[in-house]
Amino acid sequence: MSRRFDVVVIGAGPAGYVGAIRAAQHGLSVACIDEWQNRDGKYAFGGTCLNAGCIPSKALLESSELFHKAQHDFAKHGIQTGDVAMDVAAMQKRRAGIVRQLTGGIAGLFKANKVEGLVGHGKLLAGKKVEFTPVDGEPEILDAQHVVLASGSAPIELGMAPFDGDQIIDSWDALELPSVPGRLGIVGAGVIGLELGSVWARLGAEVTILEAMEDFLFMADRDVAKVARQEFKRQGLDIKLGAKVTKAKGGKSGVSVAYEDAGGQQSLECDKLIVAVGRRPVTDDLFAEDAGIQLDERGFIVVDDECRTGVSGVYAVGDCVRGPMLAHKGSEEGVMAADLIAGEIAEVNYDVIPSVLYTNPEIAWAGKTEEQVKSEGRAYKTGSFPFMASGRAKAMEQTAGMVKIISSSEDDEILGVHIVGPMAGELIAEAVLAMEFSASTEDLQRTIHAHPSLAEAVHEAALAVDKRALNFPNK
Ligand code: FAD
Ligand code: NAD
Repeated sequence: MSRRFDVVVIGAGPAGYVGAIRAAQHGLSVACIDEWQNRDGKYAFGGTCLNAGCIPSKALLESSELFHKAQHDFAKHGIQTGDVAMDVAAMQKRRAGIVRQLTGGIAGLFKANKVEGLVGHGKLLAGKKVEFTPVDGEPEILDAQHVVLASGSAPIELGMAPFDGDQIIDSWDALELPSVPGRLGIVGAGVIGLELGSVWARLGAEVTILEAMEDFLFMADRDVAKVARQEFKRQGLDIKLGAKVTKAKGGKSGVSVAYEDAGGQQSLECDKLIVAVGRRPVTDDLFAEDAGIQLDERGFIVVDDECRTGVSGVYAVGDCVRGPMLAHKGSEEGVMAADLIAGEIAEVNYDVIPSVLYTNPEIAWAGKTEEQVKSEGRAYKTGSFPFMASGRAKAMEQTAGMVKIISSSEDDEILGVHIVGPMAGELIAEAVLAMEFSASTEDLQRTIHAHPSLAEAVHEAALAVDKRALNFPNK
């Protein structure tokens, strides 16, 4: 007889594992299937985010930032270090250790919440049956009342620059490089290109990034993008805009990249080339043809606002469905699907999903950019406050950047908050909470912020919307 579960989740990334735990917390019987295998041959829960994405990249960003600071910034604080040496093997060991701890932690969380973690391949069949093929055994059919597809995403490969796992590499390979490449080329100045470019540049690589778009960070507010571009340039990241790669080929002396820009045909020689031009949804062998699941023209599983597929009782969440490919967006969708399965009312507020780039300075935003608000024809006000005028930022020796707030002229509701500067990824949480509660800038103005803190810059930017900034001249 086949095993029966109230919920079977396929995929244990941040969307799937969080959804599975939430469903179990509702008292439902839950199985979560995952087949992720790390380079050491070990299977691990946590998906892209924990094994090859968010967590390992932040571990290396932190180590490389400390190395860079020790070399360039400590002296300003009166700390003499002498020669600072780098040990990439130790950095990579630390990165791998953090990943091991956190992915192992999910196995522990599954146990604590009574989620059955199953290691192997899952495939949705017709009639809400799931075929589970363990990595070391025969296929088994599971009977499910509800199924959640959370199969995630994989890097997009360019036909003219195919991955070879050695010289032309994806973001996962780029996180596990054993040494610093002398010349590092990157295709795509998106989130991955900028974060990984920062890591290896801080450790000494000469980094050139080729970006097809003419606008730098086209998804960000223009004022923020401008500051970020200047800072990255100062740090030595050579970002070439409007650069379209036509061919890349590895050889004995490195990778030869041909690209076109406004000046015509150009070439770039590098030791490694990271291709980071976005990710595609993973749906290979995820469902049988007669299971009833629809894909859109870009390969995403079609779902409604509540992550329901067209098949009753089958949900899809995370990177394999529309919307930003972010861990926290996937997790919230997992929670929503579990709550709906348990009969509760639940929703995800897709209008207020924070985006963070963990570069230096960090870049973070939530809500609309000024360009978006303008194009909607809405009357709006803006206020901004530079970190140059923040006592805390000065004490930290990190004064580049600003906080910018956009609010409605009609009712003062906050429409967007954009930050480039120290700890922007933490500061944005206040803005997200404010927007979640439909706060006005006056609400932020009248909220007491600790002094001296970076959060005061958010307070002052809110005051600046009404030309009431206290620690910077109002424009
Ligand atoms: P995934 O994490 O991709 O997990 C899907 C899982 O499903 C995988 O383990 C896969 O093996 C498994 N699977 C797929 N099909 C099957 C099947 N048929 N049977 C069994 N198992 C299956 N996002 C952020 O929010 N913040 C960051 O700082 C951040 N940094 C990133 C850095 C990098 C370098 C990368 C590549 C991504 C980063 N992301 C970040 C994006 C983030 O990793 C993804 O948005 C997130 O992992 C998506 O979660 P998910 O659960 O939908 O999919
Ligand atoms: P991305 O969409 O952020 O950036 C891809 C960039 O490549 C874009 O700027 C695009 O214009 C450019 N591009 C596309 N085709 C090109 C070509 N042929 N030549 C040159 N440039 C080209 O994608 P990514 O950086 O690969 O990241 C993938 C996903 O992972 C993103 O959706 C992101 O949300 C997620 N991620 C998030 C974080 C974070 O939250 N901090 C970090 C890393 C990744």
